[in-house]
Amino acid sequence: MAQHSNQHQVKAKKHLGQHFLNDEAVAQKIADTLSLNGYNNVLEIGPGMGVLTKYLLKKDITTYVIEIDTESVEYLKANYLNLAPRIIEKDFLKYDLNQVFKGEPLAIIGNFPYNISSQIVFKALEMRHQIPEFSGMFQKEVAQRICSKEGSKVYGILSVLTQAFYNAEYLFTVPPNVFNPPPKVDSGVLRLSRKENYTLPCDEKLFFRVVKMAFQQRRKTIRNSLKTLNLSDNLKANSIFGKRPEQLSVPEFLELTQLIEADL
Ligand code: SAH
Repeated sequence: MAQHSNQHQVKAKKHLGQHFLNDEAVAQKIADTLSLNGYNNVLEIGPGMGVLTKYLLKKDITTYVIEIDTESVEYLKANYLNLAPRIIEKDFLKYDLNQVFKGEPLAIIGNFPYNISSQIVFKALEMRHQIPEFSGMFQKEVAQRICSKEGSKVYGILSVLTQAFYNAEYLFTVPPNVFNPPPKVDSGVLRLSRKENYTLPCDEKLFFRVVKMAFQQRRKTIRNSLKTLNLSDNLKANSIFGKRPEQLSVPEFLELTQLIEADL
């Protein structure tokens, strides 16, 4: 179980967002967020020295890891011999996952590099057809944002786009002192479970565009933010256009997109 390093500990590199988790109980708890339903593979993003990986390896599932840092990859190869064939030494944001997964479903998990957390979520959303479950740790504020509802001050693009396809649960908070080096902020663990029916009732590209345009100017009404779409006056008289984006629920954003689609 506890694998003793055959090699020096990896030196934390700031530009890679490296904060290594030191608390085995937290690592176990994060690994246990996976339901293991609906997939046979899990991909951990940014395993570092494998604190979370070792709990994934005990589960009845095939574990892959993707890690950009050569020093971490060397450490993993030396300490987790069975994992070696399933270590992908790449940048998650740039790598085509289907070179490995070939269209098969997978869960994503990680104590994610916080400097690219939104981009990780956006990439997972693009791949939603293959990703029934996604869980792991972000900066607390980002985890809260992803899970927040309309009316909350952190409700935004990530909340709406994620919750259109996934049920989002904020699970627990993790303090800075269990990391080396400690980050400046609290962390939060969440789980996203894909909805049974995650096909939108509207054009999906247009939905992304409308949500992004609306939140680019949070304080303005929808009518104002969507000016450049040249919508009919009749449509713009609809009360939904008098609201601000943070007041619209996910179903209302879907309805808004349907209305716009019919008007274009
Ligand atoms: N999971 C480990 C490490 C967390 S730190 C732990 O909990 O201790 C974040 C990890 O993500 C680091 O190992 C870092 O090298 C890796 N990482 C950063 N950017 C990455 C990217 N674009 N693709 C893959 N891994 C990345």
